[in-house]
Amino acid sequence: MCIDYITDRGPVRAIDHVSLDLERGEFLGVAGESGSGKSTLAQGIMRILPPPAVITGGEAIFEGRDILTLDEEELRKLRWSRMSMVFQSAMDALNPVITIGEQITDTMHAHGDMSARAARDRAAELLEMVGIPGDRLDAYAHQLSGGMRQRVGIAIALALEPTLLILDEPTTALDVIVEREILEEIRGLQRKLGFAVIFITHDLARMLQFSDRVAVFYAGRMAEIGPAEELRTSPRHPYTQGLLRAFPSVHGSTVEMFSIPGTPPSLRNPPAGCRFHPRCPVAVELCSKVSPELKQIGPGHSAACHLAK
Ligand code: ATP
Ligand code: SF4
Repeated sequence: MCIDYITDRGPVRAIDHVSLDLERGEFLGVAGESGSGKSTLAQGIMRILPPPAVITGGEAIFEGRDILTLDEEELRKLRWSRMSMVFQSAMDALNPVITIGEQITDTMHAHGDMSARAARDRAAELLEMVGIPGDRLDAYAHQLSGGMRQRVGIAIALALEPTLLILDEPTTALDVIVEREILEEIRGLQRKLGFAVIFITHDLARMLQFSDRVAVFYAGRMAEIGPAEELRTSPRHPYTQGLLRAFPSVHGSTVEMFSIPGTPPSLRNPPAGCRFHPRCPVAVELCSKVSPELKQIGPGHSAACHLAK
């Protein structure tokens, strides 16, 4: 898939020939620094990209159909019922003047016939599922903590039993303990209910603990994708290696902290060759001239680096 932002100063390619496949019931983590294109990709898959973004090529196959070729009516049927999404801002997007129960039942009524009683019972069940007592149905958003509000967003996203749930940094604004609890809950629900997850985050280390597979993005391209365990123990792309070292590691009584020098490039004018080369500690001459293809280096494991084996 390719996605451009059409600006006054010309197009900015935020997603550059990215191809992703997802198994039924799989938990895929998508990691990368701010601006690497993660949200653009998620909104592209959902076909909810606001202008000036334009999908300029590729395909996105979901349940055998290319989402990019569907018309608005077909998309409307698919969204929320087959694939749904939770944003970082979901907790602030709840309506302040209607109860959370009504907000969940509204989603159900908008997409199908259900009696008021059945919808209310199901809403209570959904709340329980995401760790909120079912008797909080009549609460208003302001009566809940940030973590609780984000859980309501997840309950709404799960209301119609989608087969794909996309989560775009849903826990970034929350403290680490609440974040961990919510992640564990999503993982548990996903295992129990069998839906697939695309979880977007800037926190690679956290994603490696929770995902089946992880895709690492850099400047609009996929740098590496592979089984989480393998990326954790033997990352092959220097960017993945750098991101993993960018989190504190404890050695005896000392904590080492490393950060990748430099900043990600502007996508308006990205570096030639490998986009990571100005920051790469092992770059060779070829790197500034030729862009590395994503190549397979092991079962289900690929990296876009000239030196990766
Ligand atoms: P973050 O973690 O900060 O949300 P991200 O990895 O999700 O970052 P995106 O929000 O998808 O990244 O943005 C990817 C790139 O697309 C940005 O670096 C920027 O160059 C470009 N971009 C995003 N929105 C616009 C816009 N409205 N106009 C022009 N360019 C944009
Ligand atoms: Fe570094 Fe070259 Fe590999 Fe890019 S292709 S990550 S610059 S070694």
